[in-house]
Amino acid sequence: MTEQASRKVEMEKIVSLCRRRGFIFPSSEIYGGLSSCWDYGPLGVELKQNIKQAWWRAVVQERDDIVGLDASILMHPQTWAASGHLEGFADPLVECKNCHLRWRSDDLKGNNCPSCGGELTEPRLFNLMFKTFMGPIEEEASVVYLRPETAQGMFVNFQNVVNTTRKRLPFGIAQIGKAFRNEITTGNFIFRSREFEQMEIEFFVKSGTDEEWFNYWLEERLNWYVKLGIKKENLRLREHTKGELAHYARVCYDIDYLFPMGWAELEGIANRGDFDLVQHASFSGKSLDYFDEETKEHIIPYIIEPSAGVDRSALAFLCDAYDEELAEGEIRVILHLHPALAPIKAAVLPLSRREKLVAVAKQIYADLRQWWMVSYDDAQSIGRRYRRQDEIGTPFCVTVDFQSLEDEQATIRERDTMNQIRVPINELKTTLEAKLSGERFDTQPLWTAKG
Ligand code: ATP
Repeated sequence: MTEQASRKVEMEKIVSLCRRRGFIFPSSEIYGGLSSCWDYGPLGVELKQNIKQAWWRAVVQERDDIVGLDASILMHPQTWAASGHLEGFADPLVECKNCHLRWRSDDLKGNNCPSCGGELTEPRLFNLMFKTFMGPIEEEASVVYLRPETAQGMFVNFQNVVNTTRKRLPFGIAQIGKAFRNEITTGNFIFRSREFEQMEIEFFVKSGTDEEWFNYWLEERLNWYVKLGIKKENLRLREHTKGELAHYARVCYDIDYLFPMGWAELEGIANRGDFDLVQHASFSGKSLDYFDEETKEHIIPYIIEPSAGVDRSALAFLCDAYDEELAEGEIRVILHLHPALAPIKAAVLPLSRREKLVAVAKQIYADLRQWWMVSYDDAQSIGRRYRRQDEIGTPFCVTVDFQSLEDEQATIRERDTMNQIRVPINELKTTLEAKLSGERFDTQPLWTAKG
């Protein structure tokens, strides 16, 4: 792997790969696109799905102290009064008096327009929530908002979850879903968009244990990225300064990733104290306290919130996996994606389009796709087909050649090393299963693959 190439990947290369190979397209492209909205293509949707599955597996499936939820995007408008979003979810907006471009004043380094140098207006607060109307009449009384975060759905369902699951503290609720923010300045591809997906945990604990749980979640969440292949040196923790802290937070750390444009937030982890349950109890008039069996007291739990973005994670995984190396005088582009994240787990490639080979290859394809996303490719030279799979991060290629017709074996080629092993066709599934879950690909290569 070329260390330098992977560290210095430019955003244009990622954008171009995503466009070219069908990971991500501009939204409504035939109409000229819609600013900061993106469509995930055939490979992108698989990548995103795999990220969400890996997260769900780590935080819900493999734990007995977190349960899932899927709350609706539209919520009672009072939710946003209680949460503080109606009043406080705003960024300071300035406009250039000359070119009329708009900027977030807290993002600017100087006092002038970064585009033309013109004079800027005084900042005014701009609420980031999208408004719409419920029902046929567009009036103030029917205003609802597209949620700007998934978190509130979990707070307002706290009592429902406690009553139906009998969970005792400490326990959490996890949710994945769309969120919408009318961001002032967007850009950097899918890093900041107006419609995006979040993966959030609200972890309810007794006050006094909150610091310990906060530290636990910092470590847990950092490790999740590392286990899925992000290089440690591209991650860092950054504590919010007092001035930066959101109104609800006691402490907040960002997990930053070294994106092509520099360090930026990948996930935020906040100790929200009892702010949310107190607010919702007060605005709804419903009790949201918790009866502590040990002390026989009614208490309001504290909340630790690890809040991650699916799209930012996808961008970080793509940037970290991207690599270029020189193979046979040509640039080989590789996505070293973790097998759990790779959109396609294996590609079946008959060496030629001869009928007998195709029949065997198609049978293998039909068998393997019962288990994973597998693709079939018989167009152009085998070298080109390997390159195509390397570029989209497919961990394994299964090649069927003329010898396969005699010895009933096929070749598995591994993406990163280009090493190859020969495997009986009826053992392909078990072999791939083991390799996809991390078994070393250390068998002597039959030959050094030139690709
Ligand atoms: P930023 O400071 O970059 O605006 P934030 O602090 O407002 O982000 P949070 O409210 O903490 O973000 O949201 C949690 C996570 O949701 C972020 O870490 C990020 O991964 C994701 N996220 C937030 N806003 C966006 C957006 N506009 N586009 C894509 N992902 C986003």
